[in-house]
Parts: sequence; structure tokens; C-alpha cells
Amino acid sequence: MTESTEFSDQKQVFGHPQGLFYLFFAELWERFSFYGMRALLTLYMIDVIFKALAERDYATAAVYSSYGSLVYASTVIGGKLSDKILGMRNSIFLGGILMSIGHFVLAIEDNMAFFLALSLIIVGNGFFKPNISTFVGTLYEKGDPKKDSGFTIFYMGINIGGWVAPLLCGWLAATYGWHYGFGLAGIGMLTGLIVFWRGIQNNVFGDRGLPPNEHVLEKKVLGIKQGILVPVLAVLAAPLIALLLSSYKAIATDGMFADQNIVNVIFTGIGIAVLAYLAYEMFKANVKERKELFVAVLLTFFMTIFWGFHELSGSVITLFAARNIDLDGIMSAAQTNSLNSMFIIILAIPISMMWTWLSKKNWNPRTPYKFGLGLLFAGISFYVLALSGGSANESGFVPFTYLLLMYFLLSVGELFMSPVGLSKMTDLAPMRLIAFIMGVWFLSSAFAFQIVGFIGKQLAIESTDGDVSGFATLTVYTDGFMLIAKYALGAGVIVLLASPLIKKLMGKVH
Ligand code: GLN
Repeated sequence: MTESTEFSDQKQVFGHPQGLFYLFFAELWERFSFYGMRALLTLYMIDVIFKALAERDYATAAVYSSYGSLVYASTVIGGKLSDKILGMRNSIFLGGILMSIGHFVLAIEDNMAFFLALSLIIVGNGFFKPNISTFVGTLYEKGDPKKDSGFTIFYMGINIGGWVAPLLCGWLAATYGWHYGFGLAGIGMLTGLIVFWRGIQNNVFGDRGLPPNEHVLEKKVLGIKQGILVPVLAVLAAPLIALLLSSYKAIATDGMFADQNIVNVIFTGIGIAVLAYLAYEMFKANVKERKELFVAVLLTFFMTIFWGFHELSGSVITLFAARNIDLDGIMSAAQTNSLNSMFIIILAIPISMMWTWLSKKNWNPRTPYKFGLGLLFAGISFYVLALSGGSANESGFVPFTYLLLMYFLLSVGELFMSPVGLSKMTDLAPMRLIAFIMGVWFLSSAFAFQIVGFIGKQLAIESTDGDVSGFATLTVYTDGFMLIAKYALGAGVIVLLASPLIKKLMGKVH
């Protein structure tokens, strides 16, 4: 990564480097495309791609989980290739272009195009997402107290995209057809790239984000320049990933489905390899580092559990909204995907102000307590959704307020964990392992999608005739939510009970 030492000559806007606002809008549009597409994905698979299958819920859950796992796991490779070869600017362009092509391919009405499109988005996100986040960090000097608020502003950009996109793409999909919704997501991504390009034209980034040295792109590997080889391999990876995604095959035995999913196997392998490498690093480290690394791993593990429930929003909860929530005159099921981001926008600043206020009074809870509370919030949110069954009308539809309250609580939980954990990772990882630990932190979202897939498959409803809804689906979902609530509450209580110990291991890190 190329880092500039020039901080003072950056033009300031609202007390932050001007570059932040270009990155803010670029990421806003990228997340617009990502979440606009995600809002439609599950319903599109159910209604179009797997329409003819009796096990269409099961197939949808399997593909959704593989897509989510790969879209976050690819960030580890994209981050590494950027550090070593491309630099952040080239990576962001490459990723953005692949993502927009992916969204436009989704707009083609064809089942094969569908898997290829998801794969292009997976590879593209791998180059875009980790690099734009790291780019924000390079705008600030190490230890600059403004960095945290810079990241809060950036997190707001993410969620403005995540709030507006499901509303617009959901509306387009319902009014004009699925492919208009996907098409708009593609236009969003292109807009993001134009914003980023304008930033470079206006020279707001100085010499940040360039490749690690002048010769690295020209250096030849297998007779091909690296600057060409990486994008070519990225494009070639897409059909291979498409093959992995479509490798899903349901096998029915005694009315129960099971699948042979290569992506699940790959993730078990990655999990074992990461744990083995961490164990090796801990063995090598001194006592202080060993304790801190152990805490970093624990926090990542808790985060995985949280995302495992949270990321159900794009799958099971969207289906629950479609099949059992009375949305008449309010919004469509796809549009309910905007609620989490809406609450994050409302709550991000008050909650970060609350931490500052509590710090002044010396009452700011240490990180493990915040994590325990975050999991409790997730548990209560699913409990609310489970309770909604008691207020169902005669057709098995529950009031929208339950969903609203659920997303409010889940978003509070998210703000207790996600931004706090991100900043703790940089404090806890020894310098030589920072990049790796950040990669592991992103992997928490990747592994979470394995949990999402597992739950989605348990709550799959078999049906051969069109739409399903009513009391039969209501009980499946609310029983499932009750179980999730118990697991999340249990995890929260365990984390809170273990917090005094974890706190000791963290030493001075708050
Ligand atoms: N909502 C956040 C984003 O889109 C985090 C999502 C996640 O890591 N699972 O960046």
C-alpha cells in the first residue's frame, strides 16, 4: 500500500479531508448497487430461477449462503493483491467495473447469466470493498482523533446506499420487472466509479492508492505483465465461481433435503486453515501479544454469530415479510431490506455520542460488555419477531410494527458491535499481523453466511404451487425465530459472564 506522508496540504471540508467525501459517495453508490440487488435476490430466486422446484426455498438458501460467503471471502484476496500489485486505485476501478458488468448481466433474463452475474459481483466486491475502506484510513495521520468520526461518516454513506437502494430497486422491480431493478443497481455502481474518477481528476487523493512501486505492474509473470495478468485472472475466475455456485444439488431422502455443496466444504477448509495459522502465530508470540490475539479471535467469533443472525435479513426475514407480514400500502417485501440501514442512519451518531459522553463520566463499558449487549439486542429482536405470531390476523399475517421494532433493536445491536470491533482490531493485532487480522475480521461476515445458509435450509418450506403464505408458514418462521432468539440471548449471556475475564486479557485496550 502506498502511503502518503502529506496530510497538512489536504483541502478540508467540514473539518475532514476533501477526499473523504469522494470516497463517501463512491462507497454510497457501490453499496446502493450491492443492497439494491440483495433486496431482490432471494425473491427473484424463489419466483424465477428456482420457480419450478419443490425445494426452491432450500435451493435459494443454499445459493444465497454461498454467494454471501464468497462475496465477503473474496475481500481477503482483493486486499492482498492490492497491497502487493495493483494499489488501491486500480483495485477500486477493476472491482467497480466488474461489479457493474455483473449487475447488468443480471438484467439479462437467463438462468445461466444469473450465476455468472453473481460471480462477477463476488470478484468485483473482492477488489472494491476492502480497498475503499483502507483508503479512508490513509487520509488521516496515525492517531488522528478525527479518524473515528471519519469512519462514522463513511459508515453513514454505506447505509444511505443500503437505505435508498432497496426502496428504489424494489419499486422498479415490482412496477416494471425484476430486470429494471437489477439494471438500476448497475447504474448505481457506475455512478460510484464516476465519482471516484472525478476525485482522481481533481487530485484530492495526492499520491495515495498508487501501486506499491513503479515497476510492479510491468513486472512479468509467465511472460505476461502483472498489471494485465491480475485483471485477466479476475475475469477468468468468474466462470469458475459460477460453476461453484451452481454446484448446489438437492438430494431428497425421506422428505428431507440435503445438498452436496462444494462451497460449504471449501469454507470448512478455510476455517481450519485460519485457526491453525492463528494457533501457530499465538504459539510464536510473547505473552502480551498472545492474550491480545486471543481476544481479537474471540471478538471476531462473537461478530460471526451476530452477522449469522443479522444477515438473515436478506433471506429468511425477506421471505417472512413476503409471506406473513401485512405490508399492505406500506412497502413491498424487497423494500423491507432498507429498514436496517434506515435505523443505522438514525442511530449511528447518537450512539457514538453516547460512548463519548459515558467516557467522560468513566462509565463507558469495555468492549466485551458491548459485544455481550449487542448479542442480547439481537436475541430480543428475534424474540419480538417470534412473538408477532400471537397478533396474526385471520389470514396468518402479522402487523408491520413487529418488523420495525425488530430492525430497530437489531440495528442498536449492530452499532454496539460492528464499528467498535473494527477499531479494536487495529488496537489488538500486533503490527506484523494487522492486515491478516483485518482479513479475518472480514471473514467473520463470510462465515456468517454459512450460518445464514444453515438456518435458511432449516426454515425452507416445500411447495410446488406458486405463492405460499398463511398459518403454515407463520409457525415455521416464528418457531425458528424463537430458537434463534434463545441462541442469541444465550450467546449474549455467556459473553457477559466471560467479560470480566476477557477484560483482563485485553489489558489497557478499552
Ligand atoms: N452493512 C455493512 C456493510 O455493508 C456490514 C455488512 C457485513 O459486514 N456483514 O459494509
